[in-house]
Amino acid sequence: MKVVTVLGARPQFIKAAPVSREFKSAGIEEVLVHTGQHFDHNMSQVFFEEMEIPTPQYNLEISGLHHGAMTGRMLEKIEVALMNEKPDWVLVYGDTNSTLAGAMAAVKLHIPVAHVEAGLRSFEMKMPEEVNRILTDRISTLLFCPTTTAVDNLEAEGFRTFGSRLILSGDVMFDAVEYYRSRIDTHATVLGKENVKAPFLLATLHRAENTNDPVRLSAICSALNAINRQVSIVLPLHPRTKAFLASHQIQLEAQVIDPVGYFDMLALLQACSLVLTDSGGLQKEAYFFGKFCITLRDQTEWVELVKAGANALAGADSTKIIALFQQHYQQPVAMRSGLYGDGHAAAKIARELIDFR
Ligand code: UDP
Repeated sequence: MKVVTVLGARPQFIKAAPVSREFKSAGIEEVLVHTGQHFDHNMSQVFFEEMEIPTPQYNLEISGLHHGAMTGRMLEKIEVALMNEKPDWVLVYGDTNSTLAGAMAAVKLHIPVAHVEAGLRSFEMKMPEEVNRILTDRISTLLFCPTTTAVDNLEAEGFRTFGSRLILSGDVMFDAVEYYRSRIDTHATVLGKENVKAPFLLATLHRAENTNDPVRLSAICSALNAINRQVSIVLPLHPRTKAFLASHQIQLEAQVIDPVGYFDMLALLQACSLVLTDSGGLQKEAYFFGKFCITLRDQTEWVELVKAGANALAGADSTKIIALFQQHYQQPVAMRSGLYGDGHAAAKIARELIDFR
């Protein structure tokens, strides 16, 4: 069996790594297509070697365009790759333009699509990710849901009647953390290099809804500044946020460091006392390391974390952010078993593809 996997950003490569390993051991041929959507300095050859990720056979180098042009160009180039490779399946992850372009190119060629991280919803159609995930789900044959909430979302939208198959696989990001956790001590260098000392809080900020809105970004930064006077905040700063802060002269008082590699991020998660973030992935990773997460967004796809008392939505409300910090600082979070599967989502995904009739 041959699978073409379409990926466009570093988090997608991290999620795909456990699945690629399962494919390899099951004898499935996998061809990786990297669209190039997110250029990332942390994605050098070392990244692929350290993470044991196969290097992509196709590098489409499509980045820096508006949504329409980017998706259109991807569609065109992925189609060529698919006509060339003639795979049995196209596998896509998450909710980026690369996800949608990969799925669209495949269905038009009558190649079935498998979508990992299916069924997630923020119910905010202004988010490009929401549009991408709904459309990708609709044209996929196999829908691998990370959580029961994701299954419920698809059922509520009538997916049981669409002829697609819904599978509660668990979350491949949990697989990844479980796999790489034991290598943090040997691979991570950030704590010494950046002189990071506990106790500290970990923050990230990169979502367009925050970084393109001076009012929201100022409110978040003023909360972070106030908290940082009590406990140091370590913040690997996304280049887009850095540029926006400078151009709008917004003050940020924190231990600002460059974006870090995955092992360094895991080391920071392990050593910190609490997480403040607008990232989707980091909300879950905070939970996997037993840390409370203050989410700097108005909604989350990971509602089960809120229900479990491990996460709270603060949006860009500075009073709320500070109050949540006071309430939850140094309060560890107990992990409930099974919320994101058993750490073997990748094996389930490979098995479903093999067994599909
Ligand atoms: N990440 C990282 N270094 C960073 C920022 C993020 O390794 O400086 C990792 C993070 O641990 C997670 C993934 O990238 O695995 C999430 O990416 P991001 O926050 O950019 O995006 P989102 O999850 O919101 O799509």
